[in-house]
Amino acid sequence: MSAQKIGIVGSGLIGRAWAMLFAAAGYRVQLYDILEAQVTTALAELQQELHSLECKGRLRGNLTAQAQFALISGCTSLQQLVQQAQHIQECVPEQLELKRQLYAQLAELLEPQTVLASSTSTFMPSRFTAELKCKEQMLVAHPLNPPYYIPLVELVPAPWTRPELVERTRQLMLSLGQRPVVLQREIEGFVSNRIQYAILNEVWRLVGSGIVSVADADRVLSEGLGMRYALLGALETAHLNAPGGVADYFQRFGSEISAVSASYGPTPNTCEELDTLADIARQCEQLTPLAELEQRRAARDEFLTRLAALKRQQ
Ligand code: NAD
Repeated sequence: MSAQKIGIVGSGLIGRAWAMLFAAAGYRVQLYDILEAQVTTALAELQQELHSLECKGRLRGNLTAQAQFALISGCTSLQQLVQQAQHIQECVPEQLELKRQLYAQLAELLEPQTVLASSTSTFMPSRFTAELKCKEQMLVAHPLNPPYYIPLVELVPAPWTRPELVERTRQLMLSLGQRPVVLQREIEGFVSNRIQYAILNEVWRLVGSGIVSVADADRVLSEGLGMRYALLGALETAHLNAPGGVADYFQRFGSEISAVSASYGPTPNTCEELDTLADIARQCEQLTPLAELEQRRAARDEFLTRLAALKRQQ
């Protein structure tokens, strides 16, 4: 029996990463993009990337780079993409109107067995699937960048998504070696961005009020809290930090946590606090000049690969 077919709409950064993840697990992948040239470039770059990962011993899955690349093909129409697809992963730019139009088009073509999942980082699925035919086959499957190295995928159903299709998507993600989490209902920012934005807001306030530099604020995470968070979440961290576990932790420290939390101040308006933004940008660029971003991204990916290997040994 030939491998199940996965369709990917949008062959940019995230579309390519999904293509690699699915091919690594042996799925047949078709890539579609509004710009045909983009698919051609994507295929050439994917071939190079798979080969380079293989040379470094970093290729995921059991197949060779050549065998994985042979599973990936381009296609030139949405009609062709949806045919007999088990799952379609949408990866077009983060523009609500664009997603709405695309989902309306896909709803007319979707076959009954197909799940349509969006990679969106910000839009709740009800915002672009309401009123559509087959809307119960649609949900969000939000990866973190870079998905090839970070296993988390947030599965976010709309109120009308069929629960068994959420479960099927969860199983599919597990089959890729990703670590899905399932939200019981949709919420703005999902879970990862809500936590990330809470951290960003506080770092902004601390740097903006001159308490700490950008380098030191980031060091608190990379040399401190983040070391634990690569193994434990916030609640298990608390659970381990008091003799009687998490209940004891909040009994002991709860009033202090509430008192500190009450001093945070309002949510920063990062679009309007331009002096703080300029200061943060200046400090960040001193630490990593814009010309060195690519190099730093490569270092991040290298580090994450080693961290992922370490986590697998646990
Ligand atoms: P990107 O700009 O790199 O790629 C988007 C691709 O979609 C481009 O190749 C573009 O030509 C194509 N496209 C545009 N309109 C299209 C259409 N109507 N039909 C088919 N293809 C079309 O974007 P990206 O960074 O890969 O982001 C894609 C999605 O993934 C977004 O929803 C984004 O929020 C989400 N996401 C991004 C990140 C990230 O860090 N970049 C992380 C997680 C999730």
